[in-house]
Amino acid sequence: MQFELTILGCSGAIPAYNRHPSSHFLNYNGHGFLIDCGEATQMQMAKFNIRRAKLDHVFISHLHGDHFFGLMGLISAFNLNYREQPLNIYGPEGLEEIVLTHFKYSKTKLSYPINFMTTQDSRQEMILDLPFLTVESFPLYHRIPTTGFLFKEKKGLRKIVPEKILQYNIPVTEIAAIKLGGDYNDKNGTIVLNKELTKPPSKPRAYAYCSDTMYNEHLVEIVKEVDLLYHEATFKNEHASRAKDTFHATTIEAATIAKKSVAKKLIIGHYSARYEDLSEHLAECISVFPETLLAEEGKVYSI
Ligand SMILES: [Zn+2]
Ligand SMILES: [Zn+2]
Repeated sequence: MQFELTILGCSGAIPAYNRHPSSHFLNYNGHGFLIDCGEATQMQMAKFNIRRAKLDHVFISHLHGDHFFGLMGLISAFNLNYREQPLNIYGPEGLEEIVLTHFKYSKTKLSYPINFMTTQDSRQEMILDLPFLTVESFPLYHRIPTTGFLFKEKKGLRKIVPEKILQYNIPVTEIAAIKLGGDYNDKNGTIVLNKELTKPPSKPRAYAYCSDTMYNEHLVEIVKEVDLLYHEATFKNEHASRAKDTFHATTIEAATIAKKSVAKKLIIGHYSARYEDLSEHLAECISVFPETLLAEEGKVYSI
């Protein structure tokens, strides 16, 4: 199953050095999930060949403009393309009012329904439960109510060993039951145990998105052992006091969360406009957590 992340925007509050405000696109086997929607999101989607039609779920972490100023444009483009399928938007209190007010005064009647779901910054909760994936929101520690999002793959079915189908001459009609854990009864009445015919499913994978936040060890348990952790690292370590004042994190802090949570890989982003060169960001993180990558726009990260 494809489970991959494309970075559409990796800049902090101000676009700089050809870096754009926050936006991530997650593809799970053709199902699209947009996480934050900074002002250049649509342009970046076009540039990196991400089809809008694949997108049914949009998650907004908080109401600072660099995380949602692209949303109105995206909703409008769907309308101009005569979208009919519902769009599901998850975000903090106030987002629905902002969007509806905009369309009220532009006298726009959308061609499709929007389902809004308000996220809570006081607790972790499941906000989406699909047959193959769940999404949870969880509190972050920023100047205004902010949540992160945790995408967890569901446990798959057992995998049939192809050679065993031939060996025991198993008819196609029996395959589904075997994948669910059943034994096989052949025509002579011999029982072949499930563990002889199948392998366990792959371990479910997870992606956690920690948008704007200051360092907080409560996150460690929430993102425990995820395969891919995105954690903002707006500042280098030398600007740690600035990070604290603005409720943001440093490189070392992001890497410490990754290390303590035993994440497999860390991606950092939301770089302050004061930095053009990001090599020191990377070096500082690697000194704490070697499996660190810089968020780079257009790059696809396999989970
Ligand atoms: Zn931001
Ligand atoms: Zn913010």
